Amino acid sequence: MGFKWEGLSHRVTPMRIALFYALIGEVWILLSDHLLGFIVTDHQLYLRLEMAKGWLFIAATALFLYFLFQREYNTLRRYEKELQKDRENLERYRLLSEDTLDLILFIRPDGQIIDANEAAVKRYGYTRQELTNMPLYKLCLPEDKLSVQQYLKKAPQGIQLESRHIAKDGSAFPVDICAKGATSNGKPIIVSIIRDISKRKKAEELLTHQAQHDALTGLPNRYFFNESLCQALTQSRNKNGKLAVMFLDLDRFKLINDTMGHNLGDQLLKKVAERVGQNLRAGDTLARLGGDEFLILLPDIRNDQEVVFVSERILKVLTQPIIIEGNEVYMTTSIGISLYPNDGSDMETLVKQADTAMYFAKEKGRNNYQFFNHELNIKANERLTTEYSLRKALAREEFVLHYQPQVDLESGCIVGLEALVRWQSKERGIVPPTAFIPIAEETGLIVPIGEWVLRAACIQNVAWQLQGYPPMRMSVNISARQFREVNFIKVVSGILEETGMDAHLLELEITESVAMENGAASTEKLSRFKELGIRISIDDFGTGFSSLNYLRRMPIDTLKIDQSFIRDISSDQNGEEVVTAIIQLAKNLRLKVIAEGVETNTQWSFLKNQKCDEMQGFLFSKAVTSEEAEMLFEGPII
Ligand code: C2E
Ligand code: CA
Ligand code: CA
Repeated sequence: MGFKWEGLSHRVTPMRIALFYALIGEVWILLSDHLLGFIVTDHQLYLRLEMAKGWLFIAATALFLYFLFQREYNTLRRYEKELQKDRENLERYRLLSEDTLDLILFIRPDGQIIDANEAAVKRYGYTRQELTNMPLYKLCLPEDKLSVQQYLKKAPQGIQLESRHIAKDGSAFPVDICAKGATSNGKPIIVSIIRDISKRKKAEELLTHQAQHDALTGLPNRYFFNESLCQALTQSRNKNGKLAVMFLDLDRFKLINDTMGHNLGDQLLKKVAERVGQNLRAGDTLARLGGDEFLILLPDIRNDQEVVFVSERILKVLTQPIIIEGNEVYMTTSIGISLYPNDGSDMETLVKQADTAMYFAKEKGRNNYQFFNHELNIKANERLTTEYSLRKALAREEFVLHYQPQVDLESGCIVGLEALVRWQSKERGIVPPTAFIPIAEETGLIVPIGEWVLRAACIQNVAWQLQGYPPMRMSVNISARQFREVNFIKVVSGILEETGMDAHLLELEITESVAMENGAASTEKLSRFKELGIRISIDDFGTGFSSLNYLRRMPIDTLKIDQSFIRDISSDQNGEEVVTAIIQLAKNLRLKVIAEGVETNTQWSFLKNQKCDEMQGFLFSKAVTSEEAEMLFEGPII
């Protein structure tokens, strides 16, 4: 540590002191000699006084120098001591700070970094020398320069904030900063504790991503969709813009998933998501709600036609077969659309309305789209009330069975009965199945209702047996949804066991499409019923498009000619030909054939001539209660 002149009083520089000294000396010599010559005339005295004057000058200047140096020396000592203390103080801070993973900077109130801990040196990548000689803003992003000023102002009172810092190599990293004012030997400094939160940020981002995205397809989920919709709505309101929400649901996906396995089902969903995504406009949001349900947000639409165009394109690309592990899978889709602005458009209703519209799209048949409108609203409300009261009906056991006899055309004897369900509603009176079975199907309520029907029919049949009536077949209608249930066979065999019903007397009526759809799996299921001794009848035969090849291989017992063809007998329509053809087909396949909806004698005699096996219809009896049926059993035969 060398001698430092900066320690001296600011105004007195060494040069000034020297000049001042020279000037005083010169003036003293010139003036004092003149003065002395003027006052003293005696030469001897003059010489002595001259000598004394010299001594006096030297003594005065020596004294002056002594005081000068003494003062400056003291200042210097004090400064040195202070500096030492400062260093010791900071050193103490730093020693404390070395133990932590946090980066610690000691900053002067003007923003100059004066010291840093080892962690900071390492993380920023500067040498300690570099770091302790740079202003704080050099560690911040250029756009944060202003906030550095703010920071310096507020830090002494204590401040906590998140920001980004840059290391020497130019890489930026997120930081959490906690700063506080401190004094180091009476002088204010800022101690800034900085935590590198890269890892935490990454984890947070991952978590929010996961919270907002669907794990299977990587698409946004409902949560994310709602956020986007919320934003889009605000924008639309400001701009008077239009937007559309699409609700997309794959037809029969559950069936495919159940039969092909969930792994393939997952792959299918991924491919569907991909295809839909490729056919949207830039700026549209595709989200997966779960299962086979997707939502699409289309902001900034010009007109309905644009939405129609997108819907038709999606429907079209999704009908093209999807190849999964070598299998060609054919899919169709139903799309419901709601538009903003419309009657009650807030976020939730828009999604709900699109959902409702989707249901009605499905009702139109597969591969359709449907806009939400007021009419749908009314229908949807009706549906909701029906669904609600159906649930209650199930709990209160408001269902009853009516039985319609099936008569052998040859003998005219009742050989079987079809169980037909009725809903005896407290509020609505007797409700026909056509008014509630479709809703029960869609909501899945048909499964418990169907189980109830099956059990009630079996119990009645056993009761009639016990009462001594001749054995009669009991036909029970099975809906598509029921038939597809994975444990359907178990349910049926369970009911047989529990009621003591003879399996050979039970006949299940399923429609053509249910029997045909997803061929192998259905055939397999039907075979299991055969093994149990249960009979299978194809209901409404002739209305579907059965492949004769399939029909030949199906383990079925009866074809039930659809009523529409019977009605067309002896009319201008070609009903007679169709009925004849079906009866021939049944004979060829060695199946029993029954005509339903027989109302007239003409129909009856035509069927008898064609050797139709059985008939069912108002001509003989409508569906009646069990007591009424008993009277028919006892009454005269036709
Ligand atoms: P379906 O299986 O084709 O039943 C025949 C329907 O035609 C019955 O109507 C029956 O009353 C009616 N019908 C019988 N003979 C004649 C006739 O000579 N002329 C006319 N015009 N109609 C006749 P229903 O009982 O109203 O049942 C309607 C449909 O509801 C049934 O059609 C069936 O698809 C369904 N259904 C009825 N009960 C059940 C059930 O327990 N489960 C399921 N899944 N569906 C059922
Ligand atoms: Ca039927
Ligand atoms: Ca039928």
